[in-house]
Amino acid sequence: MNSLRTRIAVFYAVLIVVVIALGAVAIDFALRSVLIDQTKLNLAQTAEDFKNNAVEATTFGFSGQGPLTTVLSKRDTLDHWAAGHQYIQIDTVPGQVLGKSSNLGGFTIPPWAPNGKDSAYEDVHVGGERPATILVLHRVLFDAEQRPIAIIHVGERLDIVNQLLSRARTILLGITIAAMIVIVVASYFIAKSAIDPIERLTGAVAEIGSERLDRRLRWKRHDELGRLASAFDAMLDRLQSAFARERQFISDASHELRTPLTVINANAQMLQRWGDRDPELTRTSLEAIAEESGRLAGMVSGMLTLAKAEAGDAIPKEPLVLERLVDDVVAHAQERAAAKGLTLAAHHPKGASTIVIGDAGLLRQLIGNLIDNALKFTEAGRVDVSVRREDGQAVVEVTDSGPGIDGAAADRLFDRFFRGDPSHARTVEGTGLGLAIVRSIARVHGGTVAAQARQEGGSTFSVSLPAEPDSFTEGS
Ligand code: ADP
Repeated sequence: MNSLRTRIAVFYAVLIVVVIALGAVAIDFALRSVLIDQTKLNLAQTAEDFKNNAVEATTFGFSGQGPLTTVLSKRDTLDHWAAGHQYIQIDTVPGQVLGKSSNLGGFTIPPWAPNGKDSAYEDVHVGGERPATILVLHRVLFDAEQRPIAIIHVGERLDIVNQLLSRARTILLGITIAAMIVIVVASYFIAKSAIDPIERLTGAVAEIGSERLDRRLRWKRHDELGRLASAFDAMLDRLQSAFARERQFISDASHELRTPLTVINANAQMLQRWGDRDPELTRTSLEAIAEESGRLAGMVSGMLTLAKAEAGDAIPKEPLVLERLVDDVVAHAQERAAAKGLTLAAHHPKGASTIVIGDAGLLRQLIGNLIDNALKFTEAGRVDVSVRREDGQAVVEVTDSGPGIDGAAADRLFDRFFRGDPSHARTVEGTGLGLAIVRSIARVHGGTVAAQARQEGGSTFSVSLPAEPDSFTEGS
């Protein structure tokens, strides 16, 4: 019973048996009552005809054979009316037999007490050579003055009814068995043809573990199963690229973490061996350790931010005024800009408040990373940060007068651990995670980020975020 197709076959077989059995009971009942009604009509007709003829005969004295009861009890008269398949017996009202048709043989229909009724039907069992159940109509006969003068019993064998019914039952039973066999076989095969592909799908899915993510079902069917298989293939595509991204991230992260760790390790070993003898070496080693461990800390915190941003749903979101966030981050970066002799300024219409729904910490980091990069890569000139509205989006733009963006690298700027110019990579500190973090934060806020080289030199990084519709209340 573990197999779905057996369960379907058994279910339909039981269902069909129950339906046919109920139908058979209903047909049996209907057939029986029709046949019994017909028999009752026959009996009533015979009793009526018999009475009319007998009364007529005596009333008009055709036979001159004495009182009615005498006429009625004549055997040949009774045999005439019994007509072979019916039985007739005449009793006096108290129940004494006056006469009966010869087909009753030695059997006598038991007396019937009218008890105020004119007639009644009763099943009577006839013994003898051909034992049978007969349906008997007892009826009181009245004379012209409506005095009861005799009781007539007319009976008819129920053999035919019973035979008909049992034949009908046999036919119904045959139909039930045949239907059951057909249904069981048919539903087994129908279920098999529907379920086999599911089993194949299950087998194929079981074969595809994380090791064989490149396998695809590629079914050409156009039915529900075909759609399931192609949805499955699409899911595998996504899984495969997610796995690949994760693998790439792990290998990049290990690679990036290894470099500062190696430097720290080497310096620590030098300190161990010669640290107490050479104060200059101690100083430079400690500096290197401090610098590399700082880099390590920056990288780890960058990776944590990325993980947090990519978790998405866990981020609390509240309405934030973008101009205020930008002003805040710009103010914090002023010192660094000044140290490098750069001009850093925020631009937005006075009093404007552009509302975005998001996480203040993450959005601050997004703007901060862009400004950090601009300050890092720009040697002279200025960095400008602006906020504006465009097609229902809030756009933050960070423009600098730095080296611009190398076309070949432009596509990869936002990849994790990507660092552009190798000469910069050595001189400018960084982890290669800054822009990946920017992109992740923009994404979890439903936004996008893009980088562009400026014709006049330098680059522009712009972030678009969905703005709240009623957020653009510009002041004077
Ligand atoms: P990091 O700054 O740590 O190197 P990022 O992910 O922030 O890492 O940036 C990746 C690369 O993109 C940088 O190494 C640099 O080559 C390039 N880049 C980022 N911002 C700028 C910018 N404002 N001007 C020129 N190049 C930039």
